[in-house]
Amino acid sequence: MKHNKNKAIPIPVPAIGGFPGQQVPFDISEAQPKGCLGCGSGLFNLAYRVGKISAMAPMNKTGQDVMIKTETFICLHCGLEIGKEPESKQ
Ligand SMILES: [Zn+2]
Repeated sequence: MKHNKNKAIPIPVPAIGGFPGQQVPFDISEAQPKGCLGCGSGLFNLAYRVGKISAMAPMNKTGQDVMIKTETFICLHCGLEIGKEPESKQ
């Protein structure tokens, strides 16, 4: 059911385990726009959400606290984190 634009190109998908470090040439114009749920802006800043895994946690084999970080995006316009619902009135 997809309508192909004439500039659409097939994306070769590397086999699992193959071609490490080779970038799949995704085209940003093929991506679905993802806007802020608060204001609809499509511009985001990269940010890091940081957490700590306690040395006591069963999955932590290092014996010490481990800091982990995950990337997230913050709306440039209103500061809401991507994918978050805006807070309703308190
Ligand atoms: Zn926003």
